[in-house]
Amino acid sequence: MNIAAATIPFVDLTLQHQPIQTQIEQAIQAVVRQGDYVLGQALTEFELAFATACGAEHGIGVACGTDAIALGLQACGVGPGDEVILPANTFVATLIGVLRAGATPVLVDCELETGLMDLAAAAKAITPKTKVLLPVHLYGQMVSPRQLLDLADAHNLLIFEDAAQAHLAERDGYRAGSVGIAAAFSFYPSKNLGAVGDGGMVVTQDTSVAQTMRSLRNYGAPRKYFHTEYGTNSRLDTLQAAVLNVKLPHLAEWNRDRNQIAQYYDALLQPLHSMGLVPVTNQSSSGHVYHLYVLRVQDCPLTRQLIQEELSAQNIQTGIHYPIPCHLQPAFQNLGYKMGDFPQAEQLCQEILSLPMYPGLTPAQVERVVATLKGLLQAYPPAANTQLCTPVMAN
Ligand SMILES: *Cc1c(COP(=O)(O)O)cnc(C)c1O
Repeated sequence: MNIAAATIPFVDLTLQHQPIQTQIEQAIQAVVRQGDYVLGQALTEFELAFATACGAEHGIGVACGTDAIALGLQACGVGPGDEVILPANTFVATLIGVLRAGATPVLVDCELETGLMDLAAAAKAITPKTKVLLPVHLYGQMVSPRQLLDLADAHNLLIFEDAAQAHLAERDGYRAGSVGIAAAFSFYPSKNLGAVGDGGMVVTQDTSVAQTMRSLRNYGAPRKYFHTEYGTNSRLDTLQAAVLNVKLPHLAEWNRDRNQIAQYYDALLQPLHSMGLVPVTNQSSSGHVYHLYVLRVQDCPLTRQLIQEELSAQNIQTGIHYPIPCHLQPAFQNLGYKMGDFPQAEQLCQEILSLPMYPGLTPAQVERVVATLKGLLQAYPPAANTQLCTPVMAN
């Protein structure tokens, strides 16, 4: 074995910055010199550019994606007494956003093949109090817009998209952020479009939602010292917006790169399906922007934990998104859910493994990841597995 094999990180943020380093530094300098640090010119420019890229009319920059969900829902008139349907397997920020808006979260199960919210389960969860369907475009793939719109229309519900993992994703001819009344994005550094710190945005077609949103993120004041809403302080920094302005023109190309890397993984992993390593299904072909490349470890001679440890021993970093579904997190026990409520989400949490994925990951690196996986499966035949899984004694 090549003991000097360089580490393949799970994500490398510096790679994408190298070719635009000078532009980023100049953009930051310009803001520092100009002095419009809060609600400045670069923010106005970025809000328009990003909303346009999403196929939406208005963009309102906020401090982070979690605030985009909480304030975005509030701006749509969602609050106490309103039920919001969301998937159990998402990053907890989706749930936190709903709770912070004062609404009642109603969790539903996901599909095993895609990990996306199960719309049949969502349909069953609708009550007279349901106001919003909150799909999460997980891993970079949109929940089917057509099916979402059909369901929302049939029951007169709003759609609010959590698009924090799906910048510029497409499906059924729709772009993430253009399906519902409004959508939330995050610019956390490792997202497909990331700031050099925290950031988020609500995009919407609705002028009145946009107006309320601008007020809510700025102490609830539509104009200075006149407060009409119980707002807060949550604005996207001008500095972050300046960096994002430099990065946005590259986003489509980075997403294409991610999609191509995923296709290469898909092709190389094909022979491993029969050994229990199966990628989560892509139902939107080139519209999938692969925030994450996720495998399922099913009926495999190796446990997920062992695979992860062995890859790590060979300098290949992986992740699990996410190891515990929202309904089983200790913080949300008061919602009254229990183990067994969402069997598919629970099963997926046990099976999933995210492989290295970022623009700039080379074909040779993808080949090494898959070759290492293949080597592991060959080194641990089913019969020997039990024995090899027993903990090694310390001497
Ligand atoms: C990252 C993320 C969020 C939260 O965004 P922050 O900017 O970290 O607050 C919300 N939902 C999903 C699905 C995410 O991946």
